[in-house]
Amino acid sequence: MLLEAIAAHAKEHPDRIAYQNRKEKLSYRQLWERAAALSVWLKKESGPVMIFGEKEIGMPISFLACLMAARPYLPVDPGQAIKRIEQIYQQSGTKTILTCGEYPAAEKLGAIFLGERYSEYHESGEISLPDNPLRDAYWLFTSGSTGTPKGVRISLAALENFVEWMLSIPAIAKCGQGITVNQSQFSFDLSVADLWPCFAAGATVWALKREEQQDLTVLYHALQESNAVRLTCTPSFIRLCLCDEMFSQQLMPQLKTIFLCGEALPFRTVETLHERFPQLSIINAYGPTEAACAVCAVEVQERSGTLPAGKVKSAASKLLILDKDKVPLPEGTPGEIAIVGKSVGNGYVGAFQGGFGSFAGERLYCTGDKGMIRDGLLWYLGRIDRQIKYKGYRIEPGEIEAALLCWKEVNAAAVLPIQKAGEVRGLAAIVEWNGKELPLSECKQRLLSALPSYMLPKRWIAVEKMPMNERGKCDFHALERMLQK
Ligand code: AMP
Repeated sequence: MLLEAIAAHAKEHPDRIAYQNRKEKLSYRQLWERAAALSVWLKKESGPVMIFGEKEIGMPISFLACLMAARPYLPVDPGQAIKRIEQIYQQSGTKTILTCGEYPAAEKLGAIFLGERYSEYHESGEISLPDNPLRDAYWLFTSGSTGTPKGVRISLAALENFVEWMLSIPAIAKCGQGITVNQSQFSFDLSVADLWPCFAAGATVWALKREEQQDLTVLYHALQESNAVRLTCTPSFIRLCLCDEMFSQQLMPQLKTIFLCGEALPFRTVETLHERFPQLSIINAYGPTEAACAVCAVEVQERSGTLPAGKVKSAASKLLILDKDKVPLPEGTPGEIAIVGKSVGNGYVGAFQGGFGSFAGERLYCTGDKGMIRDGLLWYLGRIDRQIKYKGYRIEPGEIEAALLCWKEVNAAAVLPIQKAGEVRGLAAIVEWNGKELPLSECKQRLLSALPSYMLPKRWIAVEKMPMNERGKCDFHALERMLQK
């Protein structure tokens, strides 16, 4: 039980550090007491709690307070475009907005500034913990193919199942109560893999601020200072770290385990990691936001070839490969990767339920990923749909296309990945203009007012007429060929 485990750490090791960034530290006692105080106030209302912030100590406090108050927490990155934040706000229907810092978007929505005011919320002694494990624990909004972000609802039961599974992985268990570096923003599900398994184990989370990730010298300094035993990040982030030879065992001598998730892990990255950190346990984990962060993992031993994405037998949930009619396929046959059981979320916010469903009386999520099970391992074989992973970010090209189609100057638009040696190097926008083309600077400025910066296309191609296939739909094969020129 997650909350009970954190309560026990707060009692038994009150001064141990639960969470820190370069400026602030939060002990287990402070984490528990402040969250408990805030939860008393949060219990007065119901529904999701939108929380603005980056890596302030107020973030884990308010997340825990929400779990105590049986209200889903909804972390919002204040650096996003205000239009997108407003879409999330409207979809969520939230009545409570908190902010851990002074952010213009939070101010605009009338957020309550948390500051150091936790004690003000406290009313009476002991808090009672809610007991419905199927309630929503958190909501995370990811890119949506229809043009607006979609909110994924994850239950406490799914979160607890994930935490228990994480801590059963030998390479994670051996990190004990050491320090884990958190790289991901809390609005992305990878952060779930740092925060809750660490808190359940009584370990310390060392949160890297965004500005510490933008300059390699600053980043290396922070990583060295962290004394971390575990690093959780995307393969893209680790590739960035590996840019300079300084990123090696000398820089992080305590590092035991690296947990990589969120996109395909290239073999070359593993090879370089092995060279720089000969003793390191490298874990490749697989899973979508819709199934509580990750569902399977494998310690990568191979030094050549394609890498598996996880062990099926020790997965957090049942893994199946389905055909087009949702019938399970035998081992060795490629199909769609589906997840069944405890890890599967409670669905999306709103009526649209996409890949969610049921299978033999259990919850099912069809991922849209192509895959195959062979030798007890899951092999990822790409996407069935057009979803893109770029720099670890999940992007639905449809969201960018919808933003472009809002402009009266655009007749038709298509967004495609720019690929090189099997890796996504950026995005390309192919636009059929309604008359004169807009200057690039204006296109960029307009898109940035609606979308996160990682969704900004690098390449812009104007076409007289969008190519169409025989069914009268946009011909993506023709566009791919155009990009290769
Ligand atoms: P997200 O919801 O942002 O975590 O993205 C989930 C998607 O990332 C999955 O559906 C996959 O397409 C991709 N993904 C996650 N982990 C892996 C992995 N280990 N290898 C390949 N793709 C992955």
